[in-house]
Amino acid sequence: MAADGQITSDVGTSPPAAGRPDLERVLAGSEWNSKLYEMACLQFAHTADLLDLDEEFRARLLEPRRSLTTNFPVRMDDRSVRSFTGYRVQHTLTMGPTKGGFRYRPDVSLGECAALAMWMTWKCALLGLPFGGAKGGVQCDPLDLSAGELERITRRYAAELIPIIGPERDIPAPDIGTGEREMAWFMDTYSQQMGYSVPEVVTGKPVALGGSAVRQRSTGLGVAYVIAEVAKRWGFAIPDQRVAIQGFGNVGATLAATLHEMGAKVVAVSDIRGGLVNQAGLDIPAVRDWVAKHQFMEGFPGADQAGPAQVLEVPCEIVVPAALERQILAENAPRLDCRLVVEAANGPTSPQAEKILAERGIQLVPDVLANGGGVLLSYFEWVQDHQRYLWDDGELEGRMQKLLGSAVGRVAEAAEKLKCDWRTAALTVAVKRVAKAAEARAIYP
Ligand code: NAD
Repeated sequence: MAADGQITSDVGTSPPAAGRPDLERVLAGSEWNSKLYEMACLQFAHTADLLDLDEEFRARLLEPRRSLTTNFPVRMDDRSVRSFTGYRVQHTLTMGPTKGGFRYRPDVSLGECAALAMWMTWKCALLGLPFGGAKGGVQCDPLDLSAGELERITRRYAAELIPIIGPERDIPAPDIGTGEREMAWFMDTYSQQMGYSVPEVVTGKPVALGGSAVRQRSTGLGVAYVIAEVAKRWGFAIPDQRVAIQGFGNVGATLAATLHEMGAKVVAVSDIRGGLVNQAGLDIPAVRDWVAKHQFMEGFPGADQAGPAQVLEVPCEIVVPAALERQILAENAPRLDCRLVVEAANGPTSPQAEKILAERGIQLVPDVLANGGGVLLSYFEWVQDHQRYLWDDGELEGRMQKLLGSAVGRVAEAAEKLKCDWRTAALTVAVKRVAKAAEARAIYP
């Protein structure tokens, strides 16, 4: 672990693709080369093995269908020009338009987007949505950029993507470092090019532009619904739970507030700068007020300070990584002191770490199930924009709760039937559905 408490490396490398010609060829290429894509491929291969999936569908579902890399110039506030690199990856075009967020992070890569796009495919399929998966991003640090610079980056990135996006092609949404503001700029840029307003080209927009009031809090709220559904099935009560959450952005802060309202004791939270721990339970509304005023949680009174990743090791019942991928690795998995890990972030647990957790009897609710509330609300927003007909917030939350509850049921049933962990169970449901769709469409020409 680095001095600032961040997890920096895994112990050893991921289980090798050696002996798996199907993965070796894909992972040997430079296009998708990344730890995250390797994780996604290994998860897929494991699921395909369990399903005894035909070679044809392994080949058709493993690699992304389409990707775009773009380098574009942006005029900075000091009049200099900087070049930025952006990506968009669409994993499968079989089941309708593709759907997935775009993120602003200095180290975002094509391989990272490829993994995240594949996971979006499984998430949409698990929820029964008429989408394939996509993901995008721009290599930049939003904390170092002015609002004007971010607007010019967003508009140029949107313009570069126009050949492959659109309400019937690919519908972006917020992710790390992006939110309503960026979606509004994105939608405006696309609409200016089309000559008329196209709200349905992105989701997660401001309400005034056809966004949904529930979308902003949907992912965090959905994670809380999934935890509540799991609690019902496994027979534990939310108010008895101590919860530690890494990440206090859109997802983490909403989840912390919702669980706090449901009576759980949120004993640890963190952001990129550091964390807070209080075994008596943190006053989450006060932490949110502090962050709204100071941007970061450091200095909040009434709690012990901790490193950003140290909160994962705080003794509690439920640990929720809600920040970044690859945060629970072989290095720190032995130190987690909880009964359940709920993956609010995408790809936060490496395959080796997952094995260690399983051996230690720690259960895991996988990302494709846990954070599905975001894409569900995005789907509702897209449908409403298409129909020009708005549903009220209560109806949206009710529909989301019902659909997430059904997805938990499908995963629990598959896990029971196949005697496997919940990630594998979730992926079998999803992969089967996508393979069936691919089989029905066959191969063009
Ligand atoms: P965000 O940018 O709003 O928040 C990210 C949070 O993580 C911030 O509090 C940041 O300070 C913190 N953080 C960053 N690096 C950290 C580190 N090293 N240690 C601790 N905290 C750190 O992003 P978000 O939208 O909340 O997304 C969080 C995760 O949830 C991502 O994995 C994203 O892919 C996933 N997700 C988001 C959505 C959505 O609707 N926003 C939907 C599904 C999944």
